[in-house]
Amino acid sequence: MGSNAINSALVLGILSATALSGCSTPTQEQPTLAQTLETGGALKPLQKNIELDQADLFFDIHPETKSVIGTTTLTLTVTAEQKQLLLDLDNNYRISSITAAGHPVSDFSHEKGEIRFTLPDSVTVNQPFEVTINYEGQPHVAERAPWDGGYVWSKTESGQPWIATAVQGEGCDLIWPCLDHPTFEPQQTDIRIRVPKGLVAASNGRLIETTEGDDWSEYHWRSEQSQNNYGIALNIGPYDKLETTYHSRYGHEYPLVFYYLRGEKEKAQKLFAEFPKQLEFYERVIGPYPFYAEKMGVVQTPHLGMEHQTINAYGQDYKPGKYDFDWLLQHELAHEWFGNQVTNTDWDHMWLHEGFGTYMQPLYGQYLHGDALYHTMMYDQRIGIRNEHPIVSNKPMSEDDVYKADRGPGSDIYQKGAWVLHTLRYLIGDEAFFNATQQLVYGTDDPKPGNFKPHFADTQDFIDAVNAETGKDMTWFFEHYIYQAALPELVSERDGDQLTLHFKSAAKAPFTMPVEIRVGGELRTVVVSKEAKTITLPSNDVHIVLDPESKILRQQDYLDEYSAFEAK
Ligand SMILES: [Zn+2]
Repeated sequence: MGSNAINSALVLGILSATALSGCSTPTQEQPTLAQTLETGGALKPLQKNIELDQADLFFDIHPETKSVIGTTTLTLTVTAEQKQLLLDLDNNYRISSITAAGHPVSDFSHEKGEIRFTLPDSVTVNQPFEVTINYEGQPHVAERAPWDGGYVWSKTESGQPWIATAVQGEGCDLIWPCLDHPTFEPQQTDIRIRVPKGLVAASNGRLIETTEGDDWSEYHWRSEQSQNNYGIALNIGPYDKLETTYHSRYGHEYPLVFYYLRGEKEKAQKLFAEFPKQLEFYERVIGPYPFYAEKMGVVQTPHLGMEHQTINAYGQDYKPGKYDFDWLLQHELAHEWFGNQVTNTDWDHMWLHEGFGTYMQPLYGQYLHGDALYHTMMYDQRIGIRNEHPIVSNKPMSEDDVYKADRGPGSDIYQKGAWVLHTLRYLIGDEAFFNATQQLVYGTDDPKPGNFKPHFADTQDFIDAVNAETGKDMTWFFEHYIYQAALPELVSERDGDQLTLHFKSAAKAPFTMPVEIRVGGELRTVVVSKEAKTITLPSNDVHIVLDPESKILRQQDYLDEYSAFEAK
């Protein structure tokens, strides 16, 4: 998700979570538990030796009662002996039946967001088996999606149902029985959505078929690549669609699809015209669009946006872009590479999704119109960097541990992450930077359609890629910028024509950075470390500017003062 409004949004997220733990809304049977509203963190012991191979999800949607009747079949494998199975599902749903490996399960519990039962004896190690769960109820309602998760039951201007799900912060267990941790990605996901006739359901992957009943339509979608589990999304409304074929620079073709609200064709066409332009940027700069076998899809939603694999949510009402493009569309599209193609192994490494995702907007500005736009956008992002918690803690973190600013880095995974990448790119150069980025995204720096699959990575994988591409150990850079909260400070003292410089930083690792200095009309580069270094200037009077193009992320008090003022 994007972060233009994330500071206020984080506050809203905290407020709504507090409100939900204290009382239930009228449409809910009971409040959703704090446990269900968390996602990720340390793996539960009973989920450590489980693999999720396939998910078949059926949703019968009833907008008039804001309720859902669902059937989920998971194909699972236990990789070590275990008798009990633990799945996650919000207790707002009532489970009507469970079968496991073909046997009805009469004795199960569903408490505190967890389904537990004993596996039949026929389940053996490394043999896939199916679990089917029938459930129904009024799902948890998202009050301020995407800042909080659940179902959004909205209406179009003409009063028709307009429904979406978004569960990045809370996890899949708000919409289907699942294993609520980012490492569980089904290899194949079938999503069948039954809706009242006249409505359209858009979801992940390819549309396999549409079935019509007397008063309903059913849309069967299938995702045949590793499917980011918080990216599984239902989008329902009176949609029309725009569709075209994209001819990729890699020689293949794939469909571009936009589901928009009926009656808004003109505005939709304008946004749709941006799809191929943005794709061309990503394919040139990062590499092949990962989900070319399915589609590049976008759907108009009642909430702002979310990176739902092959069906990105778009809900900012076609606002004109200050920088000649729709930032939300461009940001969410970035997540097809950073989030869906490469997925973090733990929320602790979420900056790999959001730092890269946020850096892609200035990079696209530079691609479109050059350096002025790039620097303007970087400067916008520099305001509001907090430096209160390290970007990465190197311990299992839930989504809330990361996003709640009193517990973790919060919005720093966005803007500070982008600035870390900006500084790294300056330090190691474009070739090494973009090759390392490709290593992170694809596991190869020569990605071609067919030679990569969605995969997981963490911060160390990116550091390894940077080290491999530069032939140097760059760990020190990440020690200062990723594993420590406070920024390095460039300390300078001027005495006539003598200029003394050093970096001050709390991290123990060495810190050596080439610093550009404009001396009168000339640009000089001085390598500055933690040790003081004195250079002689041409005169006592010459005017100097340190780091005149703001290439280095560093402590600058005036920015903190302004950020504090703006945050009030
Ligand atoms: Zn994002």
